[in-house]
Amino acid sequence: MLTERVTRVFDVDSVRQDFPTLHQEVYGKPLIYFDNGATSQKPQTVIDTINRYYTSENANIHRGVHYLSQKATDAYEEARRVIRDFINAPEEETVIFTKGTTDSINLLAFSIGETLQKGDEIIISEMEHHSNIVPWQMMCERKGCILKVIPINDRGELEMDAFRSLLSDRTRLVGITHISNTLGTINPIETIISEAHKKGAWVMIDGAQSIQHLKIDVQQLDCDFYVFSGHKVFGPTGVGIMYGKKEILDQLPPYQGGGDMIDKVSFEKTTYNVLPFKFEAGTPHISGGIALAEAFRYLDQFDHEALMAHENELITYAEEQLLMIDGLRIIGTAKHKTSVASFVVDGMHPFDIGTLLDKQGIAVRTGHHCTQPLMDRFNIPGTVRASFAFYNTREEIDNFITALKRSVNMLR
Ligand SMILES: *Cc1c(COP(=O)(O)O)cnc(C)c1O
Repeated sequence: MLTERVTRVFDVDSVRQDFPTLHQEVYGKPLIYFDNGATSQKPQTVIDTINRYYTSENANIHRGVHYLSQKATDAYEEARRVIRDFINAPEEETVIFTKGTTDSINLLAFSIGETLQKGDEIIISEMEHHSNIVPWQMMCERKGCILKVIPINDRGELEMDAFRSLLSDRTRLVGITHISNTLGTINPIETIISEAHKKGAWVMIDGAQSIQHLKIDVQQLDCDFYVFSGHKVFGPTGVGIMYGKKEILDQLPPYQGGGDMIDKVSFEKTTYNVLPFKFEAGTPHISGGIALAEAFRYLDQFDHEALMAHENELITYAEEQLLMIDGLRIIGTAKHKTSVASFVVDGMHPFDIGTLLDKQGIAVRTGHHCTQPLMDRFNIPGTVRASFAFYNTREEIDNFITALKRSVNMLR
């Protein structure tokens, strides 16, 4: 359990030793992994957990009478408690295992959609990831609801006055990203949550980019839903979480039907299981859930302030260095931001820069980063995005800047 933690001093060199993938060469150059916004690398202990599960614990859960099934069930339910502790959810049954952020939002868009009336309104923002746009659009089309969008300013910050004027008596849900995966903006979600609540609307926080950087306390935030993916927080792909307030989840209808989510099934009428199982149809990603909890155990050893201070130093230093390059423009200059440096260089296509960086061992992302409306807002086809994790170093940034200057000179 998380409560038995022993604090380990944050030291980036020793942290790097825990991540085997970081120690390799790409095209004969040491790998510099700056694509953490897309997915994170995994510490050895997470890899070992998956291996151990399939080596000695594998069985289906919740139904078996035999030893292994009980052991796997216990490990999976213990994982749920570890994750509950990490986000400080009040009850373990409010922590629903999903496939990831996208799956969590689709679940909510469907289930919440079933409770809405024609003309009800959903508010999202201009900086949302496609997975926090399209599910709501699909639901609005199906239910005759209205999707409203909070605009942003040139720095990539939400226009809060516009947000306030979009709120109405018909607003049922505000779905907002905590941190933009493209701009790095940290949104003022506390204000959004309290203002939306005054209008009686629920708030869903897309935590895909915040769970790995910020301390999350869902009770303190008072958000109604908080969703994230395991793979961006040093856990496996294919598993994620949808947290929701118990009194709301109890009143929402299930999303998918199947095994585990039922109480009694007959052809006349099926009744549904209690939380969390009502929202967990079918055999889940058992090893994934257990390994995700291990990722949180791993993260929880560190003093969070020290970890965040290191990350803040990385982004500040990277942006300082980037701005010294002629013709380079940073996209996303919010006052509150973290860990994402998105940029364009005059007259150059992001893809060409990314390709040249790759040949020098540096992994960045180029393109629209699943935020096409945001690219339209800035009137650009895409950006080059360097996104950092706590295992990145200043030295890697120096090498990245050297490689970037070389690439830019080649393209001039
Ligand atoms: C990555 C990401 C998603 C989608 O996550 P998946 O793991 O692909 O489901 C949604 N929102 C944000 C902000 C993201 O960064």
